[in-house]
Amino acid sequence: MRVAIYSNPGKASMPVSLLLKQKIEQSSQLTLDFLNPEVVISVGGDGTLLSAFHHYIDISNKIRLVGIHTGHLGFYTDWRDYEVDSLVASLENDDGQSETYPLLDIRVKYTDHGPDDHTLALNESTLKQISGTLMAEVYLKGEFFENFRGDGLCISTPSGSTAYNKSVGGAIINPQISAVQVSEISSINNRVFRTLGSPIIVPPDETIRILPVNKHKTVLTCDQQMISGREIESIEYKLSKQRLAFAKYRHTHFWGRVSNSFIGEPRQ
Ligand code: NAD
Repeated sequence: MRVAIYSNPGKASMPVSLLLKQKIEQSSQLTLDFLNPEVVISVGGDGTLLSAFHHYIDISNKIRLVGIHTGHLGFYTDWRDYEVDSLVASLENDDGQSETYPLLDIRVKYTDHGPDDHTLALNESTLKQISGTLMAEVYLKGEFFENFRGDGLCISTPSGSTAYNKSVGGAIINPQISAVQVSEISSINNRVFRTLGSPIIVPPDETIRILPVNKHKTVLTCDQQMISGREIESIEYKLSKQRLAFAKYRHTHFWGRVSNSFIGEPRQ
C-alpha cells in the first residue's frame, strides 16, 4: 500500500515522523509515495490534519487519512505518538476499512468577473471583515433570508461543528447527518438591525448564498487558510457530494470522541 507522511515541523512531531518513515521503509507491504498515496498519515494536531487534507485536496477523493497526535488530544487524530508500531501493523493488515465525513463545497465569485474559486472545507468557512462590522445579505435556497450585521458568519460541516462553530454557540452535529450549519459570530440585534439570532441547519440539497456589502473589507477563511487577494462578490455554500475518508483501524464513536475532547474523566 502507498503511504505518505504529512508532518508539522515541530520538535514533538519530527522524531515521530522519522520513526514512522523508517518503519514504513522496512515494511514489505508498505511503500512511501508522497505524490500518489492511498493513505496519508498526518503527524501533529488537528491543524496538521487540516493542512494534510488541503495539501492533497486534488486527490482527496482517492485517499484515506489517519492522524497521529503529538500535542494535545486532537479531534481528528486517533493515534498517540507512542503507537507508531501498532499503527504500522494496522496499515500492513489494512483491508480498506474507512469512515467518511461530509465536506463543505465553497464557490467564490469576484467583482473582477474573473474565474470563480471552487474549494472544499473539512471544518468550516468563515466570513468576517477586517475592521468594522460585517454587513451581508444572506440567501437560502435562492430566496432572500436576512441582512446580517455583526462580527461574522461561520458555515460548518458536521465534523467541524465541534470546532469554531461550537465556540460561537452552534450545535454539535454527528457526521452521520449530512447537513451544513450556519452560525452567527456576535450578531447585532436591536431595533435597527435584526438577524435570526440562532444557528440554522441546512439540508444537503439547499444552497447558502452570502453577498458581503463592503466587498473590499471582506475576509474569507477556509479551515485554517485565508482566501484573499481579490474583492469578493458572493460566496455559495452547499454540502459537497464528496466525503472525506478516514482509515478506521480502531473505532471511537462520535459521541465518545466529543466526550473525550470536551468533558474528560467524570469528577467525583
Ligand atoms: P489551532 O491549531 O489553534 O486549532 C484551534 C483548536 O481547534 C485546536 O485545539 C484544535 O484541536 C481544534 N480543532 C480543530 N478542528 C477541530 C474539530 N473539528 N473539532 C474540535 N476541535 C477542533 O488552529 P489551526 O491549526 O489554524 O486550526 C484551524 C481551526 O481552528 C479552524 O478550522 C477553526 O475551526 C478553529 N478556530 C477556532 C476558533 C474559535 O474557536 N474561536 C477561532 C479560529 C479558528
